[in-house]
Amino acid sequence: MLYKFSEKIYYTKHRFTYLEPSIGYVKGKNFSIMIDAGNSKEQVETFFNDLKEYNLPLPMYVILTHHHWDHSFGSIYTNLPVISSSKTSDYLSEMAKWNWDEYSLSERIANNIDTKYSVDILKKVYPNINDINIKIPDIKKYGDFSMNLGDLVVYFYSNDNSHSDDSLLIYIKSEKLLFLGDSHSKSYKTIPLSFDKTKLYNYINFIKDINFDYAIPGHGNIMTKHDLVSYLENEYSKI
Ligand SMILES: [Zn+2]
Repeated sequence: MLYKFSEKIYYTKHRFTYLEPSIGYVKGKNFSIMIDAGNSKEQVETFFNDLKEYNLPLPMYVILTHHHWDHSFGSIYTNLPVISSSKTSDYLSEMAKWNWDEYSLSERIANNIDTKYSVDILKKVYPNINDINIKIPDIKKYGDFSMNLGDLVVYFYSNDNSHSDDSLLIYIKSEKLLFLGDSHSKSYKTIPLSFDKTKLYNYINFIKDINFDYAIPGHGNIMTKHDLVSYLENEYSKI
């Protein structure tokens, strides 16, 4: 199911149960882009069917917000060139070398590389773990960059935050909209999940300086800048 934010911006409904993140879509005059690849073949196929139903052109590129499986494992099924930060590409290259079997998954939980929660959902999405096929991004970008889609420019900000150090925050200035990925979320590598105080402080200041009205998170509903900043400041006050 697609939500329409504006004539140029659409995004899919996220599903907590399958850790399906929202996939973003930015329609340009010359070409369109897809933000995140989703977690599976099924999510990619549903997204492409939704685009067809809405008479929207297929995207020309996929841009990943960060390397986590739920945002990146759909890449192979898009048959599109994938763009990511250099760090995301490095993480995915590393993960492509990992063994994907019961024993290795349990080991990674024990070593805090992954959480039981994430692995349990991964196994639900991939009942046959051998089906996992990690695509290494075709184009890796260093630092910030932008893409001109013809009638609008998309800005990509490289960001090191509590959740992951390889994030891209994706800003569409003309629509005053920011795609967050999971950049506003806690780290899952700590028990309990937590924010890093310095990183959160820097993150709040970073997004405060961006002129946006709405933010679309990977998992959750669209929110106003005010609500997002209030939430993060409240979290900061608890540390
Ligand atoms: Zn994530």
